[in-house]
Amino acid sequence: MIDLRSDTITRPTEPMRRAMYEAQVGDDVFFEDPTVNRLQERVAALLGKERALWVASGTMGNLLSIKALTQPGEEVILETENHIFVYEAAGSAVVSGVQLSPIQGKRGLITRPQVEAAIRPADIHQPRTSVVVIENTHNRAGGAVIPLGEIERISELCQQRGISMHMDGARLLNAVVASGIEARRYAQHFDTVTICFSKGLGVPMGSMIAGSGAVMDRVHRFRKMIGGGQRQVGIVAAAALYALDHHVERLAEDHANAKRLAEALSMLPDVSVNPEEVDTNIVIFQVDPARMSPTDVVVEMQKRAVLMFPFGPTNVRCVTHLDVSSDDIEAAIGAFSEVFKKGR
Ligand SMILES: *Cc1c(COP(=O)(O)O)cnc(C)c1O
Repeated sequence: MIDLRSDTITRPTEPMRRAMYEAQVGDDVFFEDPTVNRLQERVAALLGKERALWVASGTMGNLLSIKALTQPGEEVILETENHIFVYEAAGSAVVSGVQLSPIQGKRGLITRPQVEAAIRPADIHQPRTSVVVIENTHNRAGGAVIPLGEIERISELCQQRGISMHMDGARLLNAVVASGIEARRYAQHFDTVTICFSKGLGVPMGSMIAGSGAVMDRVHRFRKMIGGGQRQVGIVAAAALYALDHHVERLAEDHANAKRLAEALSMLPDVSVNPEEVDTNIVIFQVDPARMSPTDVVVEMQKRAVLMFPFGPTNVRCVTHLDVSSDDIEAAIGAFSEVFKKGR
């Protein structure tokens, strides 16, 4: 099977498992897990923040970041297709009591004038705008890298207006590898930044939140409140440390594989995709609905041992990752050619 459904499906490699087996551990709720402590320091340094904290998932990272940056009744500006708006079961409404204010972006990018127009005036009838969220890379926009220039412009505005910023950086390291811009240069504009280890980095589970000491004190308290304090987490933190050493630069291979796949797809009949818009490891292509539905494509490809997800009424999503080689991509391209040329 060639599994292009998601970069979350990766399984730990032999050497990663060895690092996990050999990890020194302790009770992390007592701050006594040396491996978690080492990882937290390393990620804080990577992101140029005072502190970083381990959390169970990216969703928990976003949930706690919003919780730490808001009071109930406030409003959070984000892009319509953001993970927080689409895939997190309205957790920020439930846990933080905030309202989300989505703005339609272009390939995931919202601009400073759009944000400026969405910020609420000081008026007792209206919620107070307290956070702007940026997702980088942007999943539903096909792994798009959000340009640093626009982040800088939005950040300058937010500073003037006393509004916090949160980055959902589940795939921030994909953006870093694709753009050549250091993680801390993106992160410096944000009060809280999350990264996921369970995506392209190939770790079985876990994410981190980084921020200033004061914000992270709040995050830490809320993590305990929602039951997110874990004990000998070093066993997984060891895998994350291993991934930082061995699985970051190789993200470039995933990006090259995605580009190659998009180029081949763009030559097939009834498929539309612009390979120029494939920045990282996600390929979203459109199928001519007169010919096939996304589900038809998925079913036909599954018969040929290639897995992917339908992504809305006309789209299909493929994601490249650690467990997909360039040979696998060539095999997937062969299968796609069969599917799209059949009966023509
Ligand atoms: C996967 C993902 C998350 C978090 O997902 P979990 O499955 O909870 O770890 C958050 N944001 C984005 C953009 C993601 O792709």
